[in-house]
Amino acid sequence: MIEYDDTTYQQEVDRIRKRFTPLVKICKEYGTAMRIGTNHGSLSDRIMSRFGDTPLGMVESALEFVRICMDENYHNIVLSMKASNTQVMVEAYRLLVSKMVEEGMNYPLHLGVTEAGGGEDGRVKSALGIGALLEDGLGDTIRVSLTEDPEFEVPVAIELANRYKNREQHSPVPEISVNPINPFDYKRRESLQLLNIGGTSVPVVMIDMSQSDVSSPESLVPVGYFYDEPTDKWNMNDMACDYLFLGNNLPGFDLPHGLRAVYDYNFWKSIDLKGRAIPLLSKDEYLTENDPTLLFKFLQITLPELDEEVINKLKSDAYTIILLGTDNSHGMAEQRRFFFELISNDIKNPVIIQRNYSNITEEQFLLYPSTDFGALLIDGLGDGVFIGNSGTAELQNLSVSEPQNSGTAEPQNRSVSELQYSGTAELQNSGTSVQQNLSTEVINRVLFGILQAARVRTSKTEYIACPSCGRTLFDLQETTEMIRKRTSHLKGVKIAIMGCIVNGPGEMADADYGYVGSGPGKITLYRGKEIVTKAIASEFAVDKLIDLIREDGNWVEQAG
Ligand code: SF4
Repeated sequence: MIEYDDTTYQQEVDRIRKRFTPLVKICKEYGTAMRIGTNHGSLSDRIMSRFGDTPLGMVESALEFVRICMDENYHNIVLSMKASNTQVMVEAYRLLVSKMVEEGMNYPLHLGVTEAGGGEDGRVKSALGIGALLEDGLGDTIRVSLTEDPEFEVPVAIELANRYKNREQHSPVPEISVNPINPFDYKRRESLQLLNIGGTSVPVVMIDMSQSDVSSPESLVPVGYFYDEPTDKWNMNDMACDYLFLGNNLPGFDLPHGLRAVYDYNFWKSIDLKGRAIPLLSKDEYLTENDPTLLFKFLQITLPELDEEVINKLKSDAYTIILLGTDNSHGMAEQRRFFFELISNDIKNPVIIQRNYSNITEEQFLLYPSTDFGALLIDGLGDGVFIGNSGTAELQNLSVSEPQNSGTAEPQNRSVSELQYSGTAELQNSGTSVQQNLSTEVINRVLFGILQAARVRTSKTEYIACPSCGRTLFDLQETTEMIRKRTSHLKGVKIAIMGCIVNGPGEMADADYGYVGSGPGKITLYRGKEIVTKAIASEFAVDKLIDLIREDGNWVEQAG
């Protein structure tokens, strides 16, 4: 990387001004709007040398161009700060707004999570980054980038924006005078570690099976546990949930050792499963219970219930895990306010965030929880996630039709679970009155997907795939699917699949490996930002990619 001192840095800024000003003048003359966008993966050497690969670097990179526009009295601009890392993306947009306020600017924002991938993961990641900003009233236009045909991006963006149509009617959230967290830098809220929740433990996933059939071990297959009868042993996958909420629903078998169950307090008192069974108390039960043998417990509470009495009890209580709900339509803000109250009172009890959903479509189910949980997790708030009432929540069935190759083909309906690996699904709200419950398996998978997209818990391979454009040198959807089939068991490995070598390497900032189109039928492989093999024939490229992963010791054989 080139090093810049103050003089050479300024010379470079002057050079940019000289080259950029004629374009600004033309746009001004013709009334043409311009987007000034920074991409996390392609910051210049000059910016990198001074600010590093950071949100501040992204912001400064854009503002240098904005200042030139302002000097030319040209204001027809919109700004974007794109990154595939959702934490970086959210922090960069917030910082941009803050710097604009400092410098007396107020230009509109174009929001996007770049290279989000496709299917379920792409929707979760996009909703998390874009939604976290929309929740705070930031953002004027949206681009959802999916590795799918472009027309499938628009309904997702509309769905995200529509959620805020009547948001101003929400119940008030008390104002704060001081923000106790730094919105520009990720830091997890300090919390006690109770059982495996909080402290340095990754955020946990709790699944509501209070309305499910839990009579046999098979009932745990959707949440990642597999009972092997001959050996009397449990196996689990990377998305095995950590807690079950069972309410009054006693399972007909012994739960696996790593899995704890939460029961309603009164029911818990009546059963003989103490130890791995934990009671859930309401606020009143919490304030009145005086059982000295009761140690670990959950307290279900919302911000309006958090009064002086509860605060005082929590201050000297090192055994209670908070299950934080909300009835506010602006629930994320209310829940965040609850965290602020805990921080300012120095209460370190871990918190599992709870949201309930009803009457939403399957696609909304991918987007809303991603925003609601993600916006908190991205600020280091939350030691676990839980969707309540899932057994009874009704979700409107969504018709997902296959692209039609002929005018006569009948569209086939598919569910969200089938959408996971789909690159070409057309999403349409069918408008039918069919109602169905979302499966426990989908809820579990989406919650793990949200934790991964927020970068707080890794449970699967991450694909950073560009949305494709005129420069794309191979079929991105087909190739992504082919690579996914062979590598989807490599937990934690980040693989970028980029259509061209012009922009691809710059945009895959975070990836461990890159598969980049470098000519017709040619692929160049990257380890991080370093080229490993240039322009190999595409028919051998996936094998070579796997060889490279193997060479680095990151390969594991697929089970069974
Ligand atoms: S083909 Fe290249 S320019 Fe087009 S979206 Fe992919 S990386 Fe970006």
